[in-house]
Amino acid sequence: MDVRASIEADAIAVEKRWCAQNYKPLPVVITRAEGAWMWDGEGRRYLDMMAAYSAVNTGHGHPRILAALTEQASRVAVISRAFHSDRLGPFLERLCRLTGLDGACPMNTGAEAVETAIKAARRWAYRVKGVARDQAEILVAEGNFHGRTTAIVGFSSEEAYRDGFGPFPGGFRIIPFGDVDAMEAAITPNTAAILVEPIQGEAGIIVPPDGYLRRLRDICDRHNVLLILDEIQSGLGRTGQWFAHQHEGIRPDGLCLGKALGGGVMPVSAFVARRDVIDMFGPGSHGSTFGGSPLAAAVGLAALDVIEDEGLVQRSAELGAHMMARLAALNSPAIRAVRGRGLWLGVEIDPAVATARHVCERLMEQGVLSKETHDTTIRFAPPLVISREDLDWAIDRFADTLAKLTA
Ligand SMILES: *Cc1c(COP(=O)(O)O)cnc(C)c1O
Repeated sequence: MDVRASIEADAIAVEKRWCAQNYKPLPVVITRAEGAWMWDGEGRRYLDMMAAYSAVNTGHGHPRILAALTEQASRVAVISRAFHSDRLGPFLERLCRLTGLDGACPMNTGAEAVETAIKAARRWAYRVKGVARDQAEILVAEGNFHGRTTAIVGFSSEEAYRDGFGPFPGGFRIIPFGDVDAMEAAITPNTAAILVEPIQGEAGIIVPPDGYLRRLRDICDRHNVLLILDEIQSGLGRTGQWFAHQHEGIRPDGLCLGKALGGGVMPVSAFVARRDVIDMFGPGSHGSTFGGSPLAAAVGLAALDVIEDEGLVQRSAELGAHMMARLAALNSPAIRAVRGRGLWLGVEIDPAVATARHVCERLMEQGVLSKETHDTTIRFAPPLVISREDLDWAIDRFADTLAKLTA
């Protein structure tokens, strides 16, 4: 083993020794990244087909975002919400104009944005809809992923997320994803909201039947129930629209955003909602020490500017269609299905050929980094700044890998 390889092995060993083993990373040590590319300590180059679960839609180290980050950090970074800043208003105004919604509550992580949505929906049920105290219910979808707090994993249908973490708060019901009739049948006078992902990311990039969101919008209107969408992963260009719900021409009553909102450099999230929902929060009712800091606001605004000015939404639509067509044309016996929208594709691998993990390890050896979700799905979700040439290169490597496995 050469010296650098042993440094790499040491880095993995030290991390394993000291870090909670709540992830199972691929055996690669990233030391640098730029755009859609990442490098390990030995100078090997990898194409990032994962974009940190869509936190890096604008690419690694985007110069405009780095400039906003460093300029703002050196002026004023964190002041808490005890004082006003000159950055928060413009950031949230931009976010509201983009979403067509009326107000926003800034947070940090995605899970916090979802928790904010849950609090807003419950208060709205009591104070606006007239539901009796502590009786509000929120309907969620089977296979959902909304984060890792105890309340949120309490309404997950994935045992690995829940096992040993109870007791969980009540007030949630799990309904099959994509089934509007089951959702409508579950609505009672106590239903505050329906909370779903427009496309389920962690579940394996599951696209619901056409018209799902339009029909949910309709039953929410008819029953006076809030439609809250978690677009933490699907939003900000990932699916070839600014927001995945725009594919169906609807507007939610509340929207959770995160991941790419932080420009690939820090956690920035928000719950954005219509006026009567966001107005449920008064002083003291909710908060976050770091949420909406001048630094987060400056970075968030720069991330939105980059997505808009570089046409990344359109780029996601075009390159996504191109990738979908190329994967279909591979005609590989190892591929059982390709799902997704925009630059967000899940490839279902035939378990008789290999596990998705095995394919990801072989891809890593070829310089392509992605991650499996569950045992059979490989996720391809590169930074939206990726070039067509680089994308084609990754698809060629994938084709080679599958050809070797099925030879
Ligand atoms: C990642 C994700 C979250 C949680 O975001 P964190 O920043 O990890 O807390 C919530 N919802 C969806 C759809 C996600 O993909």
